[in-house]
Order: sequence, then C-alpha cells, then structure tokens
Amino acid sequence: MALPMISTRPENSVPTLSLDDDLQFLKGIGPALAATLAKIGLKSAGDLLRYFPRRWEDRTRFRHVADLVPGETASIQGLVIGTTTKYPRPKMAITEVLLDDDGSAVRLIWFNQPYLEKSFARLVQLRKPIIVFGTVRRSGFSFEMQSPEWEEVSEDGDPLAMDRIVPVYPLTEGVGQKRLRRMMDTVLQMYLPLLEETLPASIILEHRMLGVETSYHNIHFPESQAYLQEARRRIVFDEFFTLQCLLALRRRANSHLAAGIRMKVSLEHLKAEIAEIVPFTLTGAQQRAISDIAADLSTGRAMNRLIQGDVGSGKTMVALAAMLMAVQNGYQAALMAPTEILAQQHAIVLRRLLEPIGLTVELAIGSLKAKEKRDVRERILGGQSMLAVGTHALIQEGVEFAKLGLVVIDEQHRFGVLQRQALAKKGMRPHVLVMTATPIPRTLTMTLYGDLDVSVLNELPPGRKAITTHWKTQAKRNDVYVSAHRLLAQGRQVYVVCPLVEESEKLQAKSATQLAEHIAENVFPQYRVGLLHGQMKSEEKDEIMRQFKAHELDILVSTTVIEVGIDVPNASAIIIENAERFGLAQLHQLRGRVGRGEHASFCILIAEPKSEEGQARMDIMVETQDGFRIAEEDLRLRGPGEFFGTRQSGMPELILADVLHDIDILTETREAAFRLIEEDPELRKPEHRALRRKLQRTEVGFELVSTA
Ligand code: ADP
Ligand code: MG
Repeated sequence: MALPMISTRPENSVPTLSLDDDLQFLKGIGPALAATLAKIGLKSAGDLLRYFPRRWEDRTRFRHVADLVPGETASIQGLVIGTTTKYPRPKMAITEVLLDDDGSAVRLIWFNQPYLEKSFARLVQLRKPIIVFGTVRRSGFSFEMQSPEWEEVSEDGDPLAMDRIVPVYPLTEGVGQKRLRRMMDTVLQMYLPLLEETLPASIILEHRMLGVETSYHNIHFPESQAYLQEARRRIVFDEFFTLQCLLALRRRANSHLAAGIRMKVSLEHLKAEIAEIVPFTLTGAQQRAISDIAADLSTGRAMNRLIQGDVGSGKTMVALAAMLMAVQNGYQAALMAPTEILAQQHAIVLRRLLEPIGLTVELAIGSLKAKEKRDVRERILGGQSMLAVGTHALIQEGVEFAKLGLVVIDEQHRFGVLQRQALAKKGMRPHVLVMTATPIPRTLTMTLYGDLDVSVLNELPPGRKAITTHWKTQAKRNDVYVSAHRLLAQGRQVYVVCPLVEESEKLQAKSATQLAEHIAENVFPQYRVGLLHGQMKSEEKDEIMRQFKAHELDILVSTTVIEVGIDVPNASAIIIENAERFGLAQLHQLRGRVGRGEHASFCILIAEPKSEEGQARMDIMVETQDGFRIAEEDLRLRGPGEFFGTRQSGMPELILADVLHDIDILTETREAAFRLIEEDPELRKPEHRALRRKLQRTEVGFELVSTA
C-alpha cells in the first residue's frame, strides 16, 4: 500500500525565492540590463546583495561653499548657473560649470568631455539642482573641483537618494546610480530574509555584532552613520572570518595528518660547525630563524615554516643550516629554486661551503644531458648524495629520494601551493621550509600565509652600503650613461634592464637584443656587453651568467630574468628602462641585484609615468629601500585584489575588508576562528553547520571540510 505523499509546502505555493535567482527575471530588469550587469559579475540576486557601495554620501548634511577646505573631499548641492567649453589647444577641451550654492559659487572642470556642455546647458535652463562630489582645490579667491562625480537631483524627491545616507556604487556603462539603487532596494526587500546567518551566535554575542540581515540592509541603505559603521564591521568580520577558518583548517590538516620526522638538533654544535665553514658571522635574525627551525624539527610534527626576508638578508645561509640539520639526522635535503640560473648559483654556494666537510651537492636541472641526469638520479635514489639542488625538474622529472627529510623552497612566490604539496608528497612527510623575498606587509603575513609559521629576517648583514636610487626622464639619459662610465672605469659592473614587453616573450627578446646592440655599439663601445633573456637556451644563459660573475663582462643587458636572487657583488649599478611599466615589488627585487658587496651602489629608474599613481610609485622607490614599506605602498596604490590574487588561490574574496586598515578586525577574527576550529575541528556542532556549509562553498574549503 502506497503511503500518502507528505508535502512540506502547501499545494500551489508561490515558487520559492533563492539567492541564486537570475537577475533578469526580476521586476524591472530585462535581458538587456541583465547582460550589462553580468559584465560586472552580477548574475544573481545574491551577487547584487554583495555588491557593496564604493562610498556613502551623507545627504542629510551637504557642505556649503563657505565652509570648504582645499584638499578635502566634499559633497555639495547646488544649481548650475552657467557652462562654457574652451579649446586652449587643438585636441584639448575644457568644460567649465559654475555651481551656485546660496550665492557662493564653485567652479567645476572637466577635461576633454565637450559633450557634457549640452547636459549642463539643459540644467541651467531647467534650474534643476545637482549634487557633486570631489576634491576641493583653491582657485584664486574661490574654489574648484576637477572632474567631480555628479548626479541630478530628481524632482520627485527620490526617497533612495535624498535626506539620508546614500550609497554610491561602482558603476558600469549603461547603469546609473539611480537605477542601481532602485534595483538594490527591490532585491533587499525580497531577498534579505534569505541571507543565512553563518556566524555562530556565540561569536556574534561576544563581539557584539549586528545580525546578518541588519548588516546587509545598513551597508546599502544606512539608517545612520553608527549603523553604517557597525554593518561594515560585521561584514568585514565575516570576510576575514571565513578566510581565517580556512587557514585554521588547513594548518590543522597539515600538522594533524603530517606527523613529521623527529630530528635531534644541538644548536651549540650546529653553530660551531657553521662558524667553521661560513666566512662571516651570522646576523641575529639569521640565528633566530635557525633556532626556530631547530625547534620545529624536534617536535615530531612536520615543519611548515616561511622565512620572509628582504633581498640580501641572507636567506641562503638559513637554508644551509636547515639542510645541515637534516643531513646530521641521516636525512636527505632538497633545495628548489624557480630558475636554473638560481639553482646553479645555490649549488655553487653550497658546494663551496659543504664539500670541504665531505658533503656532495647534486644539481638536478632540466638542461643536463641524459646520462648525467640518470647518474644524478641514481645517486639521489641510492642515498649516496644527501643534498640536491634543482628547479621544478626536481619534482616534475620523477626524481626519487632515498630518505627525504627536508624540502627548502626558495622564492616561494614563483611556486604554487600545489607544487609545494607535490614535492612534499615525494618524501616521508618531509619538513618544508619556504623562503620568500617578496616583501609582504608585516601586518598581512597572517592573511596570506596564515597556515604557515613565520620567521622574519629583519636585519641585513653588516657593512651593506645603501643603494642610492635616482629617477630620471628620458631626456637625462646621457647623464645616466656618464655616471655609469665612471663606475665602469673604477672596475665595477652594471646591469641594464630592458623595458617590459608584455605581448610576447619573443618581442621581449627582440627588444632586449636591440638594446644590447645599441649599448655595445653606441654607448659603451670600450666595454664588454652581454645579453640575457628568456628565449635563450639554458646553457647560453648559464654561460653568460658565469661570464658576468667572473667579470668577463662589464655590462649585462637583461630582461627580468635577473630579477630573482642573482648575486654578483661587484655589480654596483642597475639601470632600469621604462621603469614605470614594472610593479613596485618587481622594481625592488631588481634593485636588490646591486648593493650586495662593499661598493656604494646605484639604481637608476628611467621613467616617464603618465599618471599621478605612477609618479607616486617612482617617488616611493627613491625614498625608501625598506621592502616592507614598499609592499605596503604597493598594496595601497594597487588595492588588495590584485595584490593577493585571491581568485587564483581558491581563497575567499575580500570585498569590503581592507587588509591595511582593518587590521584590528583581522586580528580579532584570527583569534576567534582558530579557537573555533580548535574546539570543533570538523564543525559538527549544530550551531556550526551553517558555517560549515559556507566554507564548503569555497574551493579550498570543500577539500578541507569535506575530508575532515
Ligand atoms: P637573499 O637570498 O636573502 O637575498 P643571500 O642569501 O643571497 O640573500 O645573501 C646575500 C649576500 O649576503 C651573499 O653574498 C651572502 O654570502 C651574504 N651574506 C649572507 N649572510 C651574511 C652575513 N651574516 N654576513 C655577511 N654576509 C652575509
Ligand atoms: Mg636568495
């Protein structure tokens, strides 16, 4: 007998709403608008709810012209009383508008948008008020704003845009503020109740936060400034919390699954040995990092440590110490570098220091001959060689280790997490040490590498000369060459970095070749000029690097292949062509090629940045040599999205959260998240279920929570 069907919903109920609902079926949005919205990633109702305002404008209070302060941003409401467009030069149009606010006027200026004049002329006739927002500048006895944002005040007294704190959204062509606000209002009314509260109640209470619905309502249409702030705090907390939960889970997975090899290290003994083989005294920071590693190795859990040290801080010696620890415990150690040149350089350094004490160092790189490769592999597999240095070839070409106990990965930003894991899988849960010179703002390490322990090398070896940085325009190129001549005559060497060609490696190589020819023939005919670029065979590259190191070349013209870790102490100047095309972090790395010896060193940026941001970037390079400060400025100028590349790494996006300014909230969430995962590692408690589902929706979280 069939049982009657039990329905949880009444018959012929209205279709249920879902946050995944396609926007195009919403009232007031058709296929055309939906297509436009899709271009900025807005496809579903949920997407729209998470499309946060760029800023908010308090339209309960406008500024009056009389109260304006130059340099500040302000919103002003007023009437357009006149407009003209001037053409001071061919191809240049300046549109001026006079905005009147109770008898005092400000001048508004737009460049090369002559079509605006028509819109403003209409407004003059209609006597309709507008609202403008921009930076106030002084102009004679009065004030002006250049290219302010502006909006007509609708005569029907649009309730979403008047007498309240009004959201201003990032826009795309074809959708205005007014339209977006309306849509948002509709979506909020319909879908707000569907937002799931994923923060556990205990955390909401402890941190005194608004609930999810109130927060989303107020982030879009704030009831008051206080509500806006609280809504923002809550949503930022959410974003960081998700991230930190994932990091906590990942860290747990690492240490919990990877019961590691317990090693014994006598620091005293190790230090004595290093003092024997290394020709200088280690810096305090190097010693601290080495102690951190020694402690990790003795816990019985697998080490996952990041060594973060600016260029030239001496990371290689830390790697060497760690490798010695592994070898003395009877384990093999591998060092991976991102390029063959760098792998070779490491092999040279390690061999010089370690062969005298009877340790052989294998170099496993792709360009070896087949027979050599086989021999190297055999010695690693057979355990005759305890140390191997290589590129990705170490993992990709099936090198097997007899007893791998430690993997050191140099310049980690070149490696994906997956490669890190792939190599780790080769051994018996080897300890992993990651080294990076990519300066990460101190405050951010816990966001990016929150699953790793971190040691910072915040001290340069003594005797380093500061690198003086100059920014020159193309017109001053000759002066630059004159200075370079002087250095070359003193026996120094010089790097010249070619402009970045993004279209293709081939074009890049071609431009490098041309520049090298030009320099060899016309600029420094009396000196020996070498060329290095990515399209050369690795033997050729190696040979050039060898020659430059041996001072058989005076000038090395190169693409960014020299960016990573090359160490030639006699090179004391680097000239970077079209420096405005490079990222700050990259410029900093390039600059780190000099200042590595006893000579005063120079970095010359030849650049003609067009934008203010570009100029600011050059100024920062001239001003500071502190990699961490540069990273912070870089982050400030470029914004966190680009800096993190969170999308690629499968980590949740930070939309509202600002990793520089919200550091207090970040610290709070980190503590809360790690505590929560500690207490309920598999998120099995009923009050954690919603959070568990949310984490599973992210790529990384899926792995971490579903296999738990
Ligand atoms: P990083 O990889 O951190 O950029 P390196 O390990 O290449 O730096 O070291 C840069 C240079 O400093 C090398 O020439 C190295 O021999 C030297 N060096 C490292 N540690 C010290 C130290 N404690 N004292 C003096 N020189 C050092
Ligand atoms: Mg290095």
